[in-house]
Formats: sequence, C-alpha cells, structure tokens
Amino acid sequence: MTTKNNATGAVVKAFGNLIHVAYEGNICQGEVGMVHLGDVRLKAEVIEIVGKIAKMQVFEDTRGIKLGSPVEFSNHLLEAELGPGLLTSIVDGLQNPLGKVADAAGLFLTRGIYLAPLDRSKNWEYHPTAKEGDNVKRGAFLGYTMEGRFQHQIMVPFACLDEYTLTWVIKPGAYSIDTVVAKAVDIEGEEHSFTMVQKWPIKAPLFQGEKIKGSKMLEVGMRILDTQFPILKGGTFCTPGPFGAGKTVLQHHLAKYADVDIVIIAACGERAGEVVEVLRTFPYLVDPHTNDPLINRTVIICNTSSMPVSAREASIYMGVTIAEYYRQMGLDVLLLADSTSRWAQAMREMSGRLEEIPGEEAFPAYLGSRIAAFYERAGVMQLANGKTGSVTIGGAVSPAGGNLEEPVTQATLAVVGAFLGLSRARSDARRYPAIDPFDSWSKYLDVVGRELEVRVAGWTKMVNKAMHILREGNEIGKRMEVVGEEGVILEDMMIYLKAELYEVAYLQQNAYDKEDTYSPLNRQIPLFLLINTIFSQDFECETHDAARTFFLGLQNEIKNLNFMPFQSERYLQAMERIQEKLQVKV
Ligand code: ADP
Ligand code: MG
Repeated sequence: MTTKNNATGAVVKAFGNLIHVAYEGNICQGEVGMVHLGDVRLKAEVIEIVGKIAKMQVFEDTRGIKLGSPVEFSNHLLEAELGPGLLTSIVDGLQNPLGKVADAAGLFLTRGIYLAPLDRSKNWEYHPTAKEGDNVKRGAFLGYTMEGRFQHQIMVPFACLDEYTLTWVIKPGAYSIDTVVAKAVDIEGEEHSFTMVQKWPIKAPLFQGEKIKGSKMLEVGMRILDTQFPILKGGTFCTPGPFGAGKTVLQHHLAKYADVDIVIIAACGERAGEVVEVLRTFPYLVDPHTNDPLINRTVIICNTSSMPVSAREASIYMGVTIAEYYRQMGLDVLLLADSTSRWAQAMREMSGRLEEIPGEEAFPAYLGSRIAAFYERAGVMQLANGKTGSVTIGGAVSPAGGNLEEPVTQATLAVVGAFLGLSRARSDARRYPAIDPFDSWSKYLDVVGRELEVRVAGWTKMVNKAMHILREGNEIGKRMEVVGEEGVILEDMMIYLKAELYEVAYLQQNAYDKEDTYSPLNRQIPLFLLINTIFSQDFECETHDAARTFFLGLQNEIKNLNFMPFQSERYLQAMERIQEKLQVKV
C-alpha cells in the first residue's frame, strides 16, 4: 500500500457490533480501524463506505462506545502474520495467541488485548538457499528454517508484486523472525528488505503458481470415507448434520488421522467445551504417520467467548490464509471449519444491521457467493519450482433441526466435491460414524478409483457393487419391516443380510476403540476384499432362520477383527477362521 496519512474519525452511531464513523482522510473497504475507549482499543473493520460515513464491524464487545468515540484507521486490511512459529499455535480469529492473552489478562479475557501472533524473541536456525544476483518474484524461496520436521520456506512476500534482484543474503545462523535475511532491488532500482515474516490480507486468496486438477487421494483412515466417499487432496467437502450427530467427532478424526502435512482447525462459534477438549487432548496425541506429537503439525484458531459473532468470519478467513501460505511451500494442508453455519449466522446478523435486502431465511443475497469463494480457495497449486502443494477444505454445517434444505447447506453442496451428510436416525441408532450412505456422495470416486486400481484391480467396480447391495438390502429391509422376515424370499433376505454385514462390520467404526478408530487403507483393503467375496458368494441356507444365524455369526466375527491389532496373531487366526467358515456349506 502507498504511504499516506492515516484517516481518523468519530463514532456517530452504534448498533450492536455495527458502528457508523464520520471520517476524515482516505479509507478503503476492508480497512482496519481502532476505536478508542479511554485506554482500551477495539479492533474494527470497514464493511461499507457511504459518503463520509464508514460502517464498521467491531470484533469485540461494544459496551461503552459513545457518540464521538475516536477512531483511528490503520491503512491496513485485516491481515494474517505469516512466518515460522505458526505451527502449534492457538490463536483467535484476529490471530491473538490465546495462551499469551490469558497470561496478560488473567483468567477472564478482557477485550482490547492484541498481541503479536508470532514470537519475536525466539531465534530460528536460518539456511539461505537463494543467492546474491538471483532474480526472484513473489513466493520464491529465499531460504528455510526447520519448523518441527518441516522446512518452513521463507518466501519473497506475496504483497511484493515486482521482480527483484537479490543484492545481499544473510549468512546461515540463528535469527529472530524480524531479522532482514535478504535485500533486493526492483526494476526501478529501489531497495527492498525481506525478513522471515510477512503479512497478507486474509480475505484475498493467497496464491502464486498454477492451479491444477487434484489427482491424489486424501487418505483419512475411516472406512466409509476412504472406500465409499473418498476425498481428494486439494478438494472440498462438507459434513452437514443435526446437533449431536457427530460432526465434531468426525472433524477431530480427520484432524488426527488425515494423511496431510498440516492441519488448520478453525473452530468457529462452536461450544467452548469442544475447543477446550481439543486443547487438552492434542498436545498428547501422536501422529500415526510420523510418531510426532500431532500439535506439531497443527494450527488451532478459535473464538473466545468474549468475542462477538463478527470474529467468526475472521476465523474462517484466517484459517484459509494460513493454509494457503503453507501450500506455497509445497505442503499438503487440510483446513477444517466447524461450523460454517455459525459464520453464515454472523453474516445474517450483520446484513440485518446494514439493512440490506434479505434473501432466503433472511440470509444476505451474497451468502452463496461468499461460501463459493471460500471453498474456491482450496486446490492443488503447481509452484514455479516444480513442487506442488494443496489445500483441502472441509466444513461442518449445522442446519437448524437437521433440515438439509436450508440455504447454508444448499449453497455449500452446490460447490463442494463431496457431501458427507450425517443423519439423526443413524446417530440415534448408534451407527457411527453417522454418515448416511444413501444421502452422501463424492465426485472424487472415479479419480481415487484410478489410483486404487493400481493396488486392487477392479476397485471402483467393487465399490459400486457394495453400494448397490447396500441400497438393495435397505429396500428389502424396509419391506421386511412390513411383511416380516418370512414375507420375503430367501434370496432377498440374504441380500439384506449381506448389506447389514457390510454396514455393521465395515461402514461402522468406533471412534473410541483404540484399534478401530484408525483404519488405514492397507488395513481396509483386505477387509473390503473379504466382504466382496461374501457379496459374490451364493450361500445355501435351508431356512430364513438358518440364514440369519449364519450371517449374524459371520458379521460378529468380522466386526471383531476391527478391534484387534492389525496382523497380530489373534487377527490372523480370526481371519483364517472366517475364511474357513466361508468354505463350509451351511
Ligand atoms: P455434533 O458436533 O454434530 O453436534 P458431536 O461430534 O459432538 O456432535 O457428537 C456427539 C456425540 O456422539 C459424541 O459425544 C459421541 O458420544 C457420539 N459420537 C459421534 N461420533 C461418534 C463415533 N464415530 N463413534 C462413537 N461415538 C460417536
Ligand atoms: Mg459440534
């Protein structure tokens, strides 16, 4: 941004978190300003400019704001600070480090405390990789420092849009993030200095490179997802479901087990207890892929209860910006937002205060385009140096009463690549994960199928067949509810029993069992193949009763496999017993 004198103003009207400010000077849409209340400064953002009045949303409790309260504009948009030290951090939507805020403010968080997101005092071992005389553009790697097990690339700031020639590069050594690590001149000969930290406005997508089509599966270790509704690296998905159906448990599963480098959790307006749960458990959980503590690959963004709804939006954008930043290093990032409905409610509230013409269910008319623009920030990026990185976005949606017809769910499912609908009926029946196989879909099945086909010939066909049996079994089951078991022919009853076996022993998975909670593909595949042989086999049962007894026994034995350590002696013996049983005529 060009240099100018910062504008100033005074509050002329306050309405909840919306204030009207009469200002002097130049301001722009999205600019951040501070409202002064004595010693306290409250952060606010310009959301509309009408003549000499700026309408601003305040990110804090507005108690005490008066007519004439002074406002100082910052000349900056709402920005993320990006640099080493982001991982393991726990921040709010404005990137205040929550632990430090609590230290500074005591147990009860006070408003108006803003701290630098990244630690200034820590020294990072810096390894320059670019050299004097190199021509560089935004996003080019200058050097790196190890952030845990990752090479955190220090890049030419994305806000620097020129081409630069490096004139000086620091020697290897331990430096704080504010240290200048390279100097450069632009085409006009003007000098620039680059440090290890840069800023980016969170509402604008951050990317440099070429967006390419995703082609790699994002393995999550959950059977119903990996097999039936797979997710793609760089893809998008949503998990709508009523209260208590298991959205948060599902998101936590993905945060723990998804096969990505980095996970960003944006806990947006959900219950405080859940956030505390994450904060309490994460530091002790071990990443099954690396045996490193999970927190080392995680950034947690959550709103404190003292923050009003306007901060929810900031959490979502902050999360996706940090995700994009790591993507530029050639890493795979997963962003989980729980829940996007709370963000949409915040939009609705602010739109009402702005007296905009309301759309469906009083959501603003731009709801759909905002949601689409958010998910569009996902994707695979081909970088100039040949590396690729990806951002996958998964959003929980919590529609009131579980009604999937409401605007937020509808706007979301119009743009995502996979729809994982959780159902009340399934969670009530304790069929977890409560993802409804009949409502859910994934557009990535074919792409992932091509990848898995290399490991298992005929994979996609088998997956489709399994789905077919599930549907058919479900129809027969409904008929049996009316006419009784004896009312359907034995062949049909067997289809029903096969479908039940698939449902109970494969699609269901207990998040609280040590072994069952995480089932990677190498464990899923033999189980799926076993069930597929059962699907294709004709069992000769004499009576309905005999069929039921046989299949329930088989179902139990297969289900129990899931609770045994993979390839343990017990597992192998049980597997053998099951295979023997399948040879036997009943
Ligand atoms: P939501 O976020 O949709 O409101 P939660 O994720 O908090 O719901 O889940 C509510 C409860 O459902 C959990 O506390 C847990 O008891 C149960 N539950 C959800 N998913 C599973 C699962 N995969 N395995 C076992 N129990 C589950
Ligand atoms: Mg929840």
